Amino acid sequence: MERVFVLDCNKQPLMPCHPARARELLDKGKAAVYRQYPLTIILKERDSGDVQAIAFKVDPGSKTTGMALVADFKRGKRLIWAAELAHRGQQIKDALESRRSLRRGRRARHTRYRPARFECRRRAAGWLPPSLMSRVDNIVTWANRLGRFSPLASVSLELVKFDMQAIQNPEISGVEYQQGELMGYEVREYLLEKWGRKCAYCGVKNVPFEVEHINPKSRGGSNRVSNLTLACRKCNEAKGNQTAAEFGHPDIQAKAKAPLKDAAAVNASRRKLYGVFAQAGIPLEIGTGGRTKFNRVKQSYPKAH
Ligand SMILES: [Zn+2]
Repeated sequence: MERVFVLDCNKQPLMPCHPARARELLDKGKAAVYRQYPLTIILKERDSGDVQAIAFKVDPGSKTTGMALVADFKRGKRLIWAAELAHRGQQIKDALESRRSLRRGRRARHTRYRPARFECRRRAAGWLPPSLMSRVDNIVTWANRLGRFSPLASVSLELVKFDMQAIQNPEISGVEYQQGELMGYEVREYLLEKWGRKCAYCGVKNVPFEVEHINPKSRGGSNRVSNLTLACRKCNEAKGNQTAAEFGHPDIQAKAKAPLKDAAAVNASRRKLYGVFAQAGIPLEIGTGGRTKFNRVKQSYPKAH
């Protein structure tokens, strides 16, 4: 059950409470709604209370970022709030491109002489493209917001670091690394992100997926990620020894060759995010997505989001 954030009468965060408790406080007139989303109430009289450490867990992705608050109660850790943040990466890129073409058109109009201004344009150290910076800013904004409404003590970043080299060309890395168990998990995680967590052929979701060779291995297809996709059991068996085009999906070949844009976006923003949190002096805990999944599968934990 998602908890309701609670502020004391001095606007200092207290432990988030159960929605039933919040309703009771509101009904008795002891509290008022302070904010609709995330739902926060403010107590009218109480000015202090016991708080336990709350950790803010972030799992950055290229299109969405998972966020969760986990409280450290005496009885153990408990999830008290979770949300998914949808990023505007592509929207920002489109807007900037439209501005660029407008300005280009205006410059080409030959109205009056305008001196070149490139010399005075410098990028600050740590500059990121706006579409990537917005991902970082979105997460930081939410960390600050949640810090105002709950007693946040630490941030735990799921630093999904895709090994670009290994992903593009697994054959060239060392044999031991290539055959390491973890390697397989990072590739799988990347494929899940790239193919939108659904079967590439029939589009079914939430079933166990198999890593599938677009051009089959038996016909010389490689293990490169650009030749891999995700398929459900049924499609994988039906496709058998055919290529994706022969199976009636010529588009898949082209999509598989698309650049590793999403992985690159995540890689670029994760470092920045780490820097921002580290600079703010917030205690940080780091894990890689591949490693987390590896641990989760080994211990057969379900994925929380
Ligand atoms: Zn399928």
